Amino acid sequence: MKYGVDEFGYYGEFGGAYIPEMLFANVDQLQKNYLGIIEDKEFRKEFLQLLTDYAGRPTPLYFARRLSEKYRNNIFLKREDLCHTGAHKINNAIGQILMAERLGKKRIIAETGAGQHGVATATVCALKGLECLVYMGEKDMERQAPNVARMQMLGAKVVPATSGSKTLKDATNEAIRDWINNAHDTYYLIGSVVGPHPYPDMVARFQSVISEEIKSQIKNLTGKDLPDLVIACVGGGSNAAGAFYHFLEDEEVKLIEVEASGLGLDSGETAATTQLGRVGILHGSKSLVMQTDDGQVTEPYSISAGLDYPGIGPLHAHLYKTGRAKFMSATDDEAVHAAFELAQLEGIIPALESAHALAVLNKLDVRDKNIVVNLSGRGDKDMDTYMKRMKTL
Ligand SMILES: *Cc1c(COP(=O)(O)O)cnc(C)c1O
Repeated sequence: MKYGVDEFGYYGEFGGAYIPEMLFANVDQLQKNYLGIIEDKEFRKEFLQLLTDYAGRPTPLYFARRLSEKYRNNIFLKREDLCHTGAHKINNAIGQILMAERLGKKRIIAETGAGQHGVATATVCALKGLECLVYMGEKDMERQAPNVARMQMLGAKVVPATSGSKTLKDATNEAIRDWINNAHDTYYLIGSVVGPHPYPDMVARFQSVISEEIKSQIKNLTGKDLPDLVIACVGGGSNAAGAFYHFLEDEEVKLIEVEASGLGLDSGETAATTQLGRVGILHGSKSLVMQTDDGQVTEPYSISAGLDYPGIGPLHAHLYKTGRAKFMSATDDEAVHAAFELAQLEGIIPALESAHALAVLNKLDVRDKNIVVNLSGRGDKDMDTYMKRMKTL
């Protein structure tokens, strides 16, 4: 596959496994076993069953009539917002908890920024009766108190990261430290297509159920084998990877990734990695990273916590570099506007992340195309932000 990972864990020049020596054995075990486990019949059966009966798949592909009229294209929404726990993240969490089980690991660790991945992880740990520790920046714990409460109610222990800026990257450092100290019995459950090989490929495979479903659904709805365009927002890039996966080699399907430009590309308050990042190593893999001249990772900003990440998965760096995917961006204001528009045209309140994908519909210079927008999650978690914005509209 032209856009797939190679045997060394690279997508073109990006990817690999840049990890401390203490983790070699652990990562090596995963590298050697993940494909065999994913392809095992019993594994596939349990994964599909949980996706169906527990997560609520398949999610619908919904023809958004009023939105389509407005933008003069046929717009289809892939309804990941209807998944259990409110977003696509559960697909990956289910896949990885089954992987941990097959590898005989009893203790699960994760890190979380806004808490969405932490909630998905705590959910599947409860499902399987496994011990769960979630590292979270102290500052993020204050900002995201409801998600902290959710994780605790699900039986997870939330551990505050008190160093540095007390946000996601500090939580990641703490999680990796824990992993090094407990490499033997601990499984590190990563929430996006980032991290050392094989995580990006493994997570993309677990999320690829999204495009697998789109492929048969678009055929039923339009009579055509392929959509013209697929649009997804990108933080680390897992929902985009899932929505693109089965279209990567179909070059006639245009792929659009939408990054969060925060207060604007030139404002210094942004998370648009491909526009501002350079090649660097983050979270165990080589990719594009937002950094200072001397290589310090910079603190990103977006109104949407899920897109507030200073890197991008290596697959996406490769799609950017090769031009296979086109990258666009949306500001905080554009995303909020798109969220209100979807709410009032279609009766669907999207997650702020997903609203970034919707926000480029008015910047496309095409007509009468079949466009799939991956609606990665629902907006319940963002009501505080929407309520504040309502007063200033
Ligand atoms: C976490 C999250 C994202 C961003 O993560 P990706 O790995 O880029 O998909 C997007 N949308 C929602 C709803 C999320 O919760």
